[in-house]
Amino acid sequence: MKLGVVRIGLYCLVALALAGALRFTPQLPEPEAKAADVLVEQAGTPTWKLRFDTLGRGESLGSLLRRGGLTDVAATRALQAATSLDQRRIPAGMPVTIKSEAADSTPSEVTLQLAIDRLLHLRRSGDTWQGTEERLPWTTDTIVVGGTIASNLYDAMNTSAKEDLPTGARQQLAWSLADVYEYRVDMSRDLQAGDEFKVVAERSVAPTGAVRIGKVIAATFKLSGSFIDAVRFASESVSGQYFDQNGKSMRAAFLRAPLEFRRISSVFGAREHPILGGWRQHKGTDYAASTGTPVRAIGDGVVVRAGWGNGYGNLLEIRHRNGFVTRYGHLSRYASGIRVGTHVGIGQTVAFVGSTGLATGPHLHFEVIVNGQQRDPRVALKQTGGDPVPDSERAAFQQLRDRLLASIEPPVAGVTKLGLH
Ligand SMILES: [Zn+2]
Repeated sequence: MKLGVVRIGLYCLVALALAGALRFTPQLPEPEAKAADVLVEQAGTPTWKLRFDTLGRGESLGSLLRRGGLTDVAATRALQAATSLDQRRIPAGMPVTIKSEAADSTPSEVTLQLAIDRLLHLRRSGDTWQGTEERLPWTTDTIVVGGTIASNLYDAMNTSAKEDLPTGARQQLAWSLADVYEYRVDMSRDLQAGDEFKVVAERSVAPTGAVRIGKVIAATFKLSGSFIDAVRFASESVSGQYFDQNGKSMRAAFLRAPLEFRRISSVFGAREHPILGGWRQHKGTDYAASTGTPVRAIGDGVVVRAGWGNGYGNLLEIRHRNGFVTRYGHLSRYASGIRVGTHVGIGQTVAFVGSTGLATGPHLHFEVIVNGQQRDPRVALKQTGGDPVPDSERAAFQQLRDRLLASIEPPVAGVTKLGLH
């Protein structure tokens, strides 16, 4: 992950403060036109040659194939057989394997890795090429990952799963965990050093070694000494929702943060900040995020203001059913259809992060107003539980909860396989 540093200006009291810019780079390896040839031997005699290559930035597949020993005509015919391939949308960095029957003969097979679990084989017979797509089977197991917060969730996940999960999977797991808790915990601001988590999740591994994180099955979070457990429960009447240890839904009337955790850079995270950290000096909460990041309504409500608000720049205010008003400032623009009187739903994208008004860098200024007063969102939005598991399902839920939580009772450091299925 590449992290830039940007100067961010705050409307509120103090002018400038340093924070990190949001910049996620794609997961593909750095494209480089570098190939490796491997001779495959059987009973001591070289039987075929494999050339492992990678499509370079700005390079065409045709030139890669010619580089790999195909004639102009063969390269054209091979690509004509690749009917399932959209040639305008081939990512740089795509792995390509070229197979030759003998070390010096014309290649007879080209394999393009379209996705981590999709291969396209182009096979030659004489002068004719034929394309066949192959789906790679994934194997799925259940893992538990445990970690302790030092600075933020990304770093904690990176530290505890470094040996066992690739970077992309660690990030995916941090995002999924934050999603489970998004009505209870603002993972970008509420975590303290020493907080602990354990998360049980499905992991799928492809033959290529690629790892994908599936559903979170259960989790436990120790926040400033108190536990919030989450158990995924599905039944006839409940479609795979998360409930806490008391059987209360993790869903509630308000989301704890107006930006998705996956939009928050690890640099910003939960680190102490001289200006951003102090509520007293600062009548609101600032989220560093790049211009254009979607801003979501934290609850159902009606837009009561969508217009210029002096220092706030483009300002949006939503009145919620319980009388709370939420305020979103420095917006670059509003989502389409957002104007005074528009009804919005929880989680709906209502606007986009910007730096309008008295802000020298992009960030979202967020306030919760109760009876005309700005209140600390951590207090105002504190949730203790949504709807309970239906009575008829309660016994089943409790049984599942006890089994899952018992299975992660022992201390966990790093990644452990769990024999749940
Ligand atoms: Zn602010």
